[in-house]
Amino acid sequence: MKLPVIFFAHGNPMYAIQPNSFTSSWESLAKRLPRPKAILVISAHWLTRGTWLTAMAQPPTIHDFSGFPQDLFNQQYPAPGSPQLAQQIKDLLAPVEVTLEENEWGLDHGTWTVLKYLYPRADIPVIQMSLDASLSASQHYELAQKLSCLRDQEVLIIGSGNVVHNLRKIDFSSSTTFPWAERFNEFFKDNLLSGNHEALIHPLNNMQQQDVQMSNPSWEHYWPALYVLALQDKDDTVEIFTDGIDLASISMLSFKLG
Ligand code: ZN
Repeated sequence: MKLPVIFFAHGNPMYAIQPNSFTSSWESLAKRLPRPKAILVISAHWLTRGTWLTAMAQPPTIHDFSGFPQDLFNQQYPAPGSPQLAQQIKDLLAPVEVTLEENEWGLDHGTWTVLKYLYPRADIPVIQMSLDASLSASQHYELAQKLSCLRDQEVLIIGSGNVVHNLRKIDFSSSTTFPWAERFNEFFKDNLLSGNHEALIHPLNNMQQQDVQMSNPSWEHYWPALYVLALQDKDDTVEIFTDGIDLASISMLSFKLG
């Protein structure tokens, strides 16, 4: 059985303790998915030099944020890891050098704030793969393609980020959204639905520079979407299961391929 590959717009960390329409969609999506043997997450929040994989048997829950209520810091997602799967992925990615991480990282909030709604029992092994900050968008896309056989091995591959992510422009009090955020979100959706990955790898060649730069002042929240796109098969259907601009400058566009 081939598993789908999914991009989650993880949004505000508070969603981990404040269920809402986005988290309800995540819960109902999980009910429609075959149960995976393991989960591999590429999270926007693990940016490294070189490529790293969590390889511990019991990855800790990482609270990689500040200024949030104690309730959020108390959250734990005690899923097991899978040192064997980490080794298998390291072999798959060769000759790219991959470091197996056993002490420093674990499951960051790009991973557990979503997985706690998908698999609340935390009983499926989870590993994370980092984003090598030195790679270009095309290099991320090419690296991701090497993971394709994992879909046939019942590994659920998840990208967790946001295709529009400008923290400096976040507005908790207003329901208005920035036009550049709307335009970039529509650009992404159009090219997702038409399968034009080339345009999504190189948005600067296909959109107003200012819209691109305002929507993604840095790229770490965008790159996880490229990992998911890179794993699309020609017969995969595209399903958008959440959408819209949240807090004025964050896209909540989430999609499933396959
Ligand atoms: Zn984030």
